[in-house]
Amino acid sequence: MAELIDGKQLAKKINEQTKASVTVLKARGIAPKLVVIIVGDDEASEIYVRNKHRKAVQIGIISETKRLPENTTQAEILSLIDQYNQDETVHGIMVQSPLPEQIDEAAITRAILPAKDVDGFNPENVGKLYSDSDQNYPVSCTPKGIMTMLKAYQVKLAGANAVIVGRSNIVGRPMAALLLNASATVTVVHSHTKDMSAYTRDADILVVATGIANLIKGDAIKPGATVIDVGMNRDANGHLTGDVDFDSVQPVAGKITPVPGGVGPMTIATLMQQTVELAKWSE
Ligand code: NDP
Repeated sequence: MAELIDGKQLAKKINEQTKASVTVLKARGIAPKLVVIIVGDDEASEIYVRNKHRKAVQIGIISETKRLPENTTQAEILSLIDQYNQDETVHGIMVQSPLPEQIDEAAITRAILPAKDVDGFNPENVGKLYSDSDQNYPVSCTPKGIMTMLKAYQVKLAGANAVIVGRSNIVGRPMAALLLNASATVTVVHSHTKDMSAYTRDADILVVATGIANLIKGDAIKPGATVIDVGMNRDANGHLTGDVDFDSVQPVAGKITPVPGGVGPMTIATLMQQTVELAKWSE
């Protein structure tokens, strides 16, 4: 039976460390501040934004949520981002996805100052990640949180075969870059991949981020592998399930993240951690 990677517990520890860093920064006259912009009234986004606000307040981060109506124009959002870019009291800015269709998400991503880009989506920061820059820069919070988990559970990265299922800009691609930077041998598979399990069966580390419930079964896993399930899917009863079929994979894997209680809490803890890092780097 695989060891459970307890994301909830680890997130709690990271949040305590972040809280301590906030205290230190405040004593130096810096009060970390996060601004979250939400456009329209998507129910799931509203829940995510509320959770982020609550967590930030618990940690001592100043949190501002800017709610804009569904019919907000591109120019209005860009102008607001510009104001926050210039506001020295703001350290992290993020715009909650999804955005209404009149908004060009890529342009929004480019507009956030790289030094305040707490999601790590700005092309300048993505470029630094891909070139393994030795400067400080923010990274997409979900894969960054997964790296924290792998480190905390002493998973060997250098020389490991890492396979990532999914190639989104938010999870798959930055995950691949982080693992490559940590000297893993990285393969990314996606919906066009032929015979996907030929790759996954060779994975010492398998990260799955597809949005397809229970896509990965036990027969696609290398015995002893570390399996990270990013998926968050609601079943017919409203229960959260992952992209990994936990019941068939747990007997084969060496380590596994549960859903819920795995990657999810680490993403939000990493967002808080990164807000405080941006504040520190702004000194
Ligand atoms: P996207 O929809 O942006 O990307 C999904 C990826 O999965 C695509 O690259 C797609 O391939 C690939 N894919 C789809 N079907 C298959 C298949 N049958 N076989 C192999 N690959 C496939 O999703 P995200 O990366 O944004 O999110 C993935 C999941 O992770 C979702 O459930 C999301 O809710 C969850 N998530 C959870 C987070 C957390 O904090 N826990 C944070 C972010 C996401 P192609 O590119 O070819 O279409």
